[in-house]
Amino acid sequence: MSVESRVDNDGETQNAAPNFLRNQIRDEIASGQASTIVTRFPPEPNGFLHIGHAKSIWVNFGLAEQFGGRCHLRFDDTNPAKEEQAYIDSIREDITWLGYEWSGDIRYASSYFDQLYAWAQHLVREGLAYVDDLSPDEIREYRGTLTEAGKPSPYRERSVEENLDLLERMSLGEFAEGAKVLRAKIDMAAGNINLRDPILYRIRHAHHHQTGDKWKIYPSYDFAHGQSDAIEGVSHSLCTLEFEDHRPLYEWFLANLPVPAQPRQTEFARMNVNYTVTSKRKLKLLVDQGVVDGWDDPRMPTIAGLRRRGYTPTALRKFCDMTGVSRAANVVDIAMLHFAIRSDLEDNAPRAMCVLKPLKVVLTNVAADHAESFEVAGHPARDDMGSRQLPLTREIWIDRDDFMEEPPKKFFRLAPGKEVRLRNGYVIRCDEVVKDSAGEIEALHCSVDFDTLGKNPEGRKVKGVIHWVSADHGVPVEVRLYDNLFLEEAPDRDKDADFLDHLNPESLVTVEGIAEPALADATPESRYQFERVGYFCADRHACRDGKLVFNRTVGLKDSWAKIQQKQAQGAKP
Ligand code: ATP
Ligand code: MG
Repeated sequence: MSVESRVDNDGETQNAAPNFLRNQIRDEIASGQASTIVTRFPPEPNGFLHIGHAKSIWVNFGLAEQFGGRCHLRFDDTNPAKEEQAYIDSIREDITWLGYEWSGDIRYASSYFDQLYAWAQHLVREGLAYVDDLSPDEIREYRGTLTEAGKPSPYRERSVEENLDLLERMSLGEFAEGAKVLRAKIDMAAGNINLRDPILYRIRHAHHHQTGDKWKIYPSYDFAHGQSDAIEGVSHSLCTLEFEDHRPLYEWFLANLPVPAQPRQTEFARMNVNYTVTSKRKLKLLVDQGVVDGWDDPRMPTIAGLRRRGYTPTALRKFCDMTGVSRAANVVDIAMLHFAIRSDLEDNAPRAMCVLKPLKVVLTNVAADHAESFEVAGHPARDDMGSRQLPLTREIWIDRDDFMEEPPKKFFRLAPGKEVRLRNGYVIRCDEVVKDSAGEIEALHCSVDFDTLGKNPEGRKVKGVIHWVSADHGVPVEVRLYDNLFLEEAPDRDKDADFLDHLNPESLVTVEGIAEPALADATPESRYQFERVGYFCADRHACRDGKLVFNRTVGLKDSWAKIQQKQAQGAKP
């Protein structure tokens, strides 16, 4: 199969946005500049992955898939202080859930520590690295600024023998943390500050989740990253724009070390989504401060959170496709994410009825022992989803919002003396409103027109249709109505303000609803359209514990965009 046909059959869905990386690789293959495409996804295991990482996964695994290459999963585990096995496990799970498979075993930058150390010694022998005793503050001071050249450390001219000896003693744990570092000897006057003798190794007497207590020194990210790519034979090191200025340094390493391959780095813009934050540090703060219920809280923009909220891998991939890849910084409207999941669930989620604010209705002309059940399609356009049974009984629940005692003109739902159709059932008329001693509505007494099943009533039009559930057969469910976690479009825009000030106090509203009987069998993570209400997903944790809890994934229509529109209109003079 040719590369072109592979690309055409794959990935590029209807709404695909431009992807300059895809075009670039296609051109490289056409011109013979590239043959086998090897990419890698290199997360630091210091938090759960978020939607921005989903984009990077989609970029790296997706391109490898499209061009018949392979993608590695490599944990960039050079900083033992912040890393945890739990994060490693979650990252593996997220990638697999998204539907991607890494090539070969999981890799770890820490597996290359021996090689990296040998290469550090190589640089020392070549006179291209030295051990520096300056303190971290002094190193910063000596480095200079964007407008001012740096000045050489007094330790810069140590002999090769002395440097080799000190480096070895650093590795054996003879010195305290911060007492010494190994630095590349490049150019303290370089216009690019990354080339002013960057740090290659730091002393850290830390336990590492992969290498245990073997190492007392750890390579810097800059020294480990490019060389790890080279060791793995990565052809395309795709990364986000903040590494553009590091590229000359990575190229210097590749030029001065006997590496087995020459990966080429191309940078693309990070993806940000409005009304949320995509920074592991900030997400960790939300978790640590108990603002949310863990990394996979359905309000979190983490992959695990989106999953628990009801997002599907298909929807997330589609979202990535819709937002494209470019070098221009961009903030994606969260409404696009909602669009991606809504269109997936519209086609693939079975329908169900669930009343969120139950109001009792007594059907006065239905006998107490009435036994009737409507057989209804699981999905209006999907025969493969089978059917479900909706029992009708004398007492039913409807939603409080579907009744008004004094309705405005265009209210087509239930009101005193008015008629409405029970979805999939009969037309009913409200004959009496029953109130308690405080004047609160307790129940409605209605009568059924039995001559209206699947047909219009004689001589009058009934416009409204409402959802309902049999009081005898309905199952109580907890429904968690999730909304955006932040009220502000760019919660972390103002560096001096606390992004937590912009939290949406109503990002979670929990209600007790009643659902149609079929939902008693909902399995963890099963998704439904609650008719007239929205899309919901059975909470994977609660459901496993035998509790019926449904998380709102997204509304039926984009109410958020409407609110924004209103706000914008209101803001106009
Ligand atoms: P964060 O700033 O959230 O901590 P990070 O870049 O430090 O993210 P890493 O674990 O180093 O997190 O990221 C793994 C890969 O994911 C990197 O290649 C990184 O460039 C990419 N990545 C991270 N955030 C985004 C984003 N918002 N958009 C696209 N790619 C991203
Ligand atoms: Mg990082």
